[in-house]
Order: sequence, then C-alpha cells, then structure tokens
Amino acid sequence: MLQQAKPPREVIGSYWEASVDQPRLDRQLMGNALFDVAVVGAGYAGLSAALKLARSGVSVCVLEAEHVGYGASGRNGGFCCLGGTTLDQHQLIRKFGLDEARRFLAYQVAGINLVAQRLEAWGVDADCHSSGEMVLAHRPRDVATLKSEADFLKENFGMKARLLSKEALGEEGYGGAGFHGGMHVPYGFALNPMKYVLALAGELRKSGGSIFGKSPVTNLTRDGERWHLETEHGYVRARKVVLAGNGYARENAPKWLYGRTLPAMSSIQVTRPLSNGELADQGWTSQTMAADTRVLLHYFRLLPDRRFLFGTRGGIFDTESALTTMRKHARSDFDSMFPAWTDVETEYSWHGNVCLARALTPFVGAVPGMEGVYAALGWHGSGIAMASISGEKLAGLITGALTQDDLPAPVRQPLKKFPLPLFRKLYLQGAYWFYSWKDR
Ligand SMILES: Cc1cc2nc3c(=O)[nH]c(=O)nc-3n(C[C@H](O)[C@H](O)[C@H](O)COP(=O)(O)OP(=O)(O)OC[C@H]3O[C@@H](n4cnc5c(N)ncnc54)[C@H](O)[C@@H]3O)c2cc1C
Repeated sequence: MLQQAKPPREVIGSYWEASVDQPRLDRQLMGNALFDVAVVGAGYAGLSAALKLARSGVSVCVLEAEHVGYGASGRNGGFCCLGGTTLDQHQLIRKFGLDEARRFLAYQVAGINLVAQRLEAWGVDADCHSSGEMVLAHRPRDVATLKSEADFLKENFGMKARLLSKEALGEEGYGGAGFHGGMHVPYGFALNPMKYVLALAGELRKSGGSIFGKSPVTNLTRDGERWHLETEHGYVRARKVVLAGNGYARENAPKWLYGRTLPAMSSIQVTRPLSNGELADQGWTSQTMAADTRVLLHYFRLLPDRRFLFGTRGGIFDTESALTTMRKHARSDFDSMFPAWTDVETEYSWHGNVCLARALTPFVGAVPGMEGVYAALGWHGSGIAMASISGEKLAGLITGALTQDDLPAPVRQPLKKFPLPLFRKLYLQGAYWFYSWKDR
C-alpha cells in the first residue's frame, strides 16, 4: 500500500488573504487628474483620512502603490488595542507631563472605540472577539512589576487593570509554559484586519472618494498652488497631500521623508484549527488576546475558528534565507511557550513592516516647510486604532475643523531624521541584541 504523504509542515501565505474573497482591485491612474486632496497609501490611516474628507464634501483620491490592504493594514495581528508608541506611561509622563499622557491615553481609547463603532455602523462581521487584552509575565519577577504597573495605572489614569495569579491564569484558560501571572487591561478587542481595511475602502468608494491601485507615487513637486504627485502613467494635482505610507513609505516621495522612519519587520504564524482535546491539553481556551512582558514581545490569540495566531518580531533583512530563519525562530518560540502543540502544523506564515520614529511616538500633522502636506505615521506596531483615529484627525486639520493643539502632545512632535540614516537597520540589530539579553 502507498504511504500517504505527510501534509506540508508550513504553508507560506497570509491567513487574512485566504479569509476573504479576492478583493476588488482598483484601477491604475492613467492620465492626469485634479483633486482637492491626494492621499498616498491605502491603509487605515490614508483611508480614514480620505473617508472623513469625502464625507465632508472634499474631492479626494487615494494613490496606492499596490492594492488596498497591501501594507500592514492587511497583514497585522488584529489586536485593536492601546499603543502607538514604545514609550511606557512613566516615560510619557516624564516627557510630556501627566495631562498630556492622559490625553494621549484617551486618544488611544477613542481610536479603539472608533473602530468598534465603524464595524457596527457598517454592519461588518470582522470575526471580532476578546474583551480587553491580557499581559502575561514571562519571568517570576515580572509579576511584581505588573502589580506596581496596575497600581500606577489606577492612580494616574483611573484604569482598572485586573491582576491574575499563575493559578488564576490556569483556571481562566491561559495555559502555557512560563506564564507566571497576568494583568488584564480592560481596553481593546480583536478583529480580522483585512475585513476591516476592505470595509473601510468600500465605505470610501460609497462616499465618493477615488482609489487608484498599482499607482506608486514616485515624486512630489510644487506646481503653482498645487502639489504634483507623479505616478507611472499619470499624475494628480492637488492642493493638499496626505502622506500615509507608514512602514511601506517610499523615502523619495517626498524627499523630506528620507531617514525619518525606520521600518521594522513583524511576523505571524497561524496554525491549523485545534481540536477540543488539543486546547485542553495545553490549557489555552481563552478568547482574550494576549501578549507577554518581553520588550521583543510575542502576541497571540485563539481565533474564532480555533486556529492559534502567534506573532513576534521579524528579522532585519528579507532575503529568502533570513525569512526562513525568522520563521524557524518564531516556530521554536511557539513550541517552547505552547509545548502541547509542538506537533500542530503552522498553516500560514507571513510578515510585514511596522514603522518606528526616532522620538518613539507617532506623528500626525502638517509637514514643516511643505505647505499643504500632512503626514500620519509611525504607529510602532500598534496602528489599528491609532492609524484609524489619526487619519480622521488629520482630515480635521486639513478642513480646519481642528488645530494641531486639539491633538495630544505625543503625536505632535515632527518626525526627526535618524542620525546616519543609511545605517538604520544596524541600530535595529543592535537594539534586538540588547533587548533579547534584557528580556531573559
Ligand atoms: C505583522 C504585523 C503585525 C501587526 N500587528 C498589529 C496588531 O495586532 N495591532 C495593531 O494595532 N497593529 C498591528 N500592526 C501594525 C499595524 O498593522 C499598522 O500600524 C497599521 O496597519 C498602519 O496603517 P497605515 O495605514 O499607517 O499603513 P499601511 O497599512 O502600512 O499602509 C501604507 C500603504 O501605503 C502604500 N504606499 C507607501 N508608499 C507609497 C507611495 N509612494 N505611493 C503609493 N502608495 C504608497 C503602501 O503600499 C501601503 O499599502 C502590525 C503590523 C505588522 C506588519
């Protein structure tokens, strides 16, 4: 008898892409066009800005190098949660003061609420689950840190974070190796990010906004009263421009962008669906999204179809061999954290770029020295809520409904250039070595 071939250990590709029908491909820009506002980038930030503008009666187009959701908005872990910076609350208070840190937190919460309201108002089933987020102590000493963090958050921000002992974690279905305690943060939920970004684009089209796919903006120059955005087969002239390329931005469009962002890779693996027995063996049955206390954190959640999503930072380079090594590392971290599932196949695996800024905070506002050009980027790996609300706020700045002071101080710091931008990836390598040592 012929032996049946074993199923492949790993299939490369995005689970989110597989979870939706072939998305509509928007036509390429051919010839020349005139709009009030041209947005560069069809992710949450660009589409949110364009949607708000279109609904305010502004003629707006989005120019996208590939297609809607090609960037991080179609590739992320789907944790619609607090974030947008790598500074913690203590650092934010030291840098901006308590009032601005509170405004910034309120802004993040408003971003989460905005995404939830949109899905509800548009009747989109984006496979949502999870009420809040669990932070899991990966070392015994982090339990005390979580406790003092919970006290600090309550005292300064009125946040009611709930602490869980190691035993309570087991009882509530957070079974894994090396989780010593946890803190439940009462904000956020999980979603299918691709379904959300496609719905956003659909709403924009319905509201009269235009999207051009396969239309990378290669140059941006001033032409009298307007900006001239060049693409392969045509150009757009617009009074105002929004730069929303985030970790996929082309640094020469405009040249101002050069050296001001640092794209960093994040990678995700999704297993095949787990059986009841397998879930019980590992003791992970919780629907709550979770991350560990490492600086180079792992983020994970049980999807509604009982697959397990596991994300971690990516490598530095995207050569085939570097990507293979990255996937092996991610899988080996998964195996050591969830030892009962070492035989469970990874079915999907992909990666994408997040965007870091030198100040470690995002930037939402007018680009200094380029009248009429605005930018919204630098979400530091947490952009579902932040890019969504910031796109809307940027539209408010453009129409004059808002001023820069209406935004919290942490998002108002203009993007500074990294020193020796050519070597940015090496900084990242250095930071990864340092933090992997600190995370031990
Ligand atoms: C693997 C991974 C996991 C993540 N997990 C989470 C998570 O769980 N929760 C969370 O909140 N965030 C997460 N993030 C981050 C989040 O996905 C991003 O912050 C967010 O999607 C950024 O949205 P954006 O609109 O700013 O940019 P993007 O979605 O990256 O869109 C930018 C778009 O601009 C286009 N573009 C760039 N330059 C040009 C040009 N010159 N001309 C035309 N088009 C251009 C690109 O093609 C791209 O489509 C994750 C990111 C990755 C990569």
